[in-house]
Amino acid sequence: MKLNGDNMSRIYNFSAGPAILPEEVLQEAAQEMLDYRGCGMSVMEMSHRGKVFQSIIDEAEADLRDLMVIPSDYKVLFMQGGASTQFSAIPLNLSRNGVGNYIITGQWAKKAYEEGGRYTDAKIIASSKDKNFSYIPDCSNLPVSPDADYVYICENNTIYGTKYKTLPDTKGKVLVADVSSCFLSEPVDVTKYGVIYGGVQKNIGPAGLAIVIIREDLITDDVLPETPTMLKFKTYADTGSLYNTPPTYGIYICGKVFKWLKKQGGLSVMKERNERKAEKLYNFLDSSEVFKGTAAVKDRSLMNVTFVTDSDELNAKFVAEAKEAGFENLKGHRSVGGMRASIYNAMPERGVDTLVAFMKRFEKDNL
Ligand SMILES: *Cc1c(COP(=O)(O)O)cnc(C)c1O
Repeated sequence: MKLNGDNMSRIYNFSAGPAILPEEVLQEAAQEMLDYRGCGMSVMEMSHRGKVFQSIIDEAEADLRDLMVIPSDYKVLFMQGGASTQFSAIPLNLSRNGVGNYIITGQWAKKAYEEGGRYTDAKIIASSKDKNFSYIPDCSNLPVSPDADYVYICENNTIYGTKYKTLPDTKGKVLVADVSSCFLSEPVDVTKYGVIYGGVQKNIGPAGLAIVIIREDLITDDVLPETPTMLKFKTYADTGSLYNTPPTYGIYICGKVFKWLKKQGGLSVMKERNERKAEKLYNFLDSSEVFKGTAAVKDRSLMNVTFVTDSDELNAKFVAEAKEAGFENLKGHRSVGGMRASIYNAMPERGVDTLVAFMKRFEKDNL
């Protein structure tokens, strides 16, 4: 069964990433596919050195700066290699004393820590591994190394459905945050971070592109000597992210999503909408006799809602019946099992309403 919106061939896609994009954006891109605004060619086919692409990337950056209120002493870099490439770029670029401090709240933070350990003395200063990463550890008085170059967090834990509601006290050290799965989901105070970065395929655009927002004074030539040119932040800062051919089509789609977000009313409106959507799902989970949420209530993510029934068989039955009914990608990450509904910016509220109604029916049939 197909359910979603005006376009009857679209399903409700709850994928964690690559994930749902606004239908309006896809339609606009389709209209411009063969002939971008009278150029006679697609954005995919044009030179990244031409005037037309230059205005696409300039507008994308300007709109992102507006949306996030990015101060002028921060640079916006468009880089390749998704989020995982930043696991190396961060230690390579930020290491001065050779010490990175990491808070481990799941697999993505752990991978970043392991990669950091290849180049620096990486230290774990807090972890929630003891309860399978179902919560965010207390970060009010961390054993931050006196010579730490940065404190690293994964702000929204895509796999476990947790999010930092307050940022850690880094004791004056630079805060680095992977925001892949909460990018642009709510307003943030950019000045609290040294580096904010994310892969865009969760909440913004097509896979393969990472956006890095970095305080200017952290961009330097004084990087670890083995740093490849293509991983050096300065390479991107000095060339407006055009040192080599960037992922042009990805940047173009992200730019459209930024405009879509501005049209919706910006990030405070998205936050209200995201809170309302998540609350509907969490309220149902809290009242259900069949389903229950897996993340600590105080740390619940607005973007990734993780839940289980009390048996693997019933979980599998739910995922299969949901798929049959037009709800795709509700299976939890392979490392945790159960279910996960990713309800990013582009998921319409009626998608959540329809899912909750379906879950209620399933509950009645399986009590
Ligand atoms: C998906 C994800 C990643 C990995 O992204 P890639 O672009 O596949 O490297 C890293 N961090 C978080 C929080 C994610 O959700």
